Amino acid sequence: MTLQYTSPSAIPKIVADLRASFRTHHTHSLEFRKGQLRALQHGLEEFHDEFAVAFEADLHRSSDMDVSKVEHTIQGTLDKLDEMTADQETSGLNEFDKSFVHLSPLGTVLVIGAWNFPVLLTLGPLIGALASGNTCVVKPSEVSEHSSAALTRMLVKFMDPTVVQVVNGGPEETTVLLKERFDHIFYTGNTLVGKIVMEAASKHLTPVTLELGGKCPAFITENTDIAAAAQRIAYWKTWNTGQVCLAVDYVLCPKNLQEALIKNVIGTWHELFGKDFRNSDSYGRIVSKKQFDRISKLLVAAEEQNKIVFGGKSEAGNLYVEPTIVTKVTERDELMQSELFAPILPIITYETFDEALNIINGQEHPLSVNLFSDNQDQINRVLKETRSGAVNVNDIAASVTNESLPFGGVGHSGMGSYHGKYSIETFSHPRSVMIRNQAHL
Ligand code: NAD
Repeated sequence: MTLQYTSPSAIPKIVADLRASFRTHHTHSLEFRKGQLRALQHGLEEFHDEFAVAFEADLHRSSDMDVSKVEHTIQGTLDKLDEMTADQETSGLNEFDKSFVHLSPLGTVLVIGAWNFPVLLTLGPLIGALASGNTCVVKPSEVSEHSSAALTRMLVKFMDPTVVQVVNGGPEETTVLLKERFDHIFYTGNTLVGKIVMEAASKHLTPVTLELGGKCPAFITENTDIAAAAQRIAYWKTWNTGQVCLAVDYVLCPKNLQEALIKNVIGTWHELFGKDFRNSDSYGRIVSKKQFDRISKLLVAAEEQNKIVFGGKSEAGNLYVEPTIVTKVTERDELMQSELFAPILPIITYETFDEALNIINGQEHPLSVNLFSDNQDQINRVLKETRSGAVNVNDIAASVTNESLPFGGVGHSGMGSYHGKYSIETFSHPRSVMIRNQAHL
């Protein structure tokens, strides 16, 4: 079923109704919030097969990871909701005072999701919004049209319409939506649109969380177990066909380790997908013709410079891009000008640790710096001398799987964070409450 766009003229009333609904305070009680989270659980169960079909059509991959991650997040939130939302007592001005921090819902919030994990990146923030007692407009990505259509049907069927409303559409509908007043906007997507969202939010002084992208390096040092590093790099370069915000964007590698790195990356790809990537059941596709054309141009530029050492084939008809390795890459190459979001692995060789740090710092701050080293001095230098949403040592992006850590970027890779208790903090206002005793003023 195709995705039905919301009529722009209907949008102001949708938002006004949710704002009025929030003012009835029925979303405040923890029991009500838990009921909404359980409804979401039931929806995911019932739509399991629909998501499987939709993901195959949009991304040529399984929906299992997205759905199970969301289920896990809902259960974790239900288990800890009382604890995460409890008033936090603080010391008063004297022994007769009572003072505490009370987490208040923000009001009516907007969640704008992205296509590469269409369920996870839309429902993940929604869970935080509901658990914190807000009403919410959900805007799934129009690019993953089958998954967003299934998501819409599920939300309409299972969620209380006075709490959750879905608006569908592309830039035109989203532009109308962004004119409305929200109490928070949570956006996942590219940096350019992030700026549009922030500008629109500023008209109402609405706070934003921006989950954006960037160029995440894999930083290989002389202290690297090259087989283990290559295995992780290869996996993260082709998971969802490289269309992952935390995917390794490029590798920094000492010259003497490059050959072993390439051999092991190719070996892992063959283990994952067999020798025939194109006909592998587990190898995905690029999401759209627009993204495919952008990636093709990068391949042509690398080919013209004779820098492709593995892969390089593509096929517009079925949006196929072969896993590709490019060497002799410099910071001036086309491949280093913006986030790749593709199964293309550029390798930059370096002579000194300082030179590698300078290359990282020559780019906008990424979502994650992934360092391969057991040397504490090198780990300390990366922590001190680079900036990024996260640092992962001896793995790629592992921090995102740990719900006790905040997930978010810095600078051009985003602002704000979520996951675990950080989702509650994002969608709540920490209200200071000071209760004094009249007899002891
Ligand atoms: P996308 O095209 O799905 O866009 C994201 C959202 O923005 C969609 O809902 C879309 O409708 C909306 N949008 C698009 N153009 C708009 C406009 N002109 N005005 C208002 N809204 C508009 O996804 P994308 O941007 O192609 O996603 C890929 C990018 O997202 C990459 O840069 C990636 O790194 C980043 N990303 C970040 C995270 C994260 O958690 N930090 C996760 C996934 C993707």
